[in-house]
Amino acid sequence: MLTIGIDIDDTITNSTRVVKYFINKYSKDKELMNNVEGVIRGNYVSEGTKNFYRKHSELIGNRIKVKKHAREVIQKLHDDGHKIIIVTARDDNYYEDAYKFSYEYLKRNGIVFDKLITAQPYKKEICIKEKIDIMIDDAVDTVDSIHEVGIKSILFDSSINKNKKTKGKRLNNWNDIYKYIQKNKKDCKNFE
Ligand SMILES: [Mg+2]
Repeated sequence: MLTIGIDIDDTITNSTRVVKYFINKYSKDKELMNNVEGVIRGNYVSEGTKNFYRKHSELIGNRIKVKKHAREVIQKLHDDGHKIIIVTARDDNYYEDAYKFSYEYLKRNGIVFDKLITAQPYKKEICIKEKIDIMIDDAVDTVDSIHEVGIKSILFDSSINKNKKTKGKRLNNWNDIYKYIQKNKKDCKNFE
């Protein structure tokens, strides 16, 4: 069986749209708006982003929705016997307690997982350490850096990444992710 790594924002949830909406409505901060990708991925830390998230993280968290079929497909993968590790960039710069916040959100929304790891803006090292076979993420540089060390990587198509080339497999819905894993699992190192 495989160990499958899954990102949260813009992979399980529709985060960009909601974060943009909140920046527009409550902040109007051009700096934040111009750095939405970095803000969401946790590699753009400024006083502006910290203040914004401190004020709005719970509202945003309640507004963010799980993508179509994400819950069912992750459940199916788990039922198939695969280990699910959620790996997110979310950290305590933005959230009071990123682990607790994310854990509760995932549980509340019926996402099954065996482990949650926060504060990982760059995921290559943690994928190696946790022996992840397939990582699903929406960030091109994450997907490509993982691909380069021989770990299969799936890029979840998003408005932020759609014009960027990737070495991973670009897919735009969870049902296709399930099919891709079924088809390619035998090529993974730890498949039994
Ligand atoms: Mg993401």
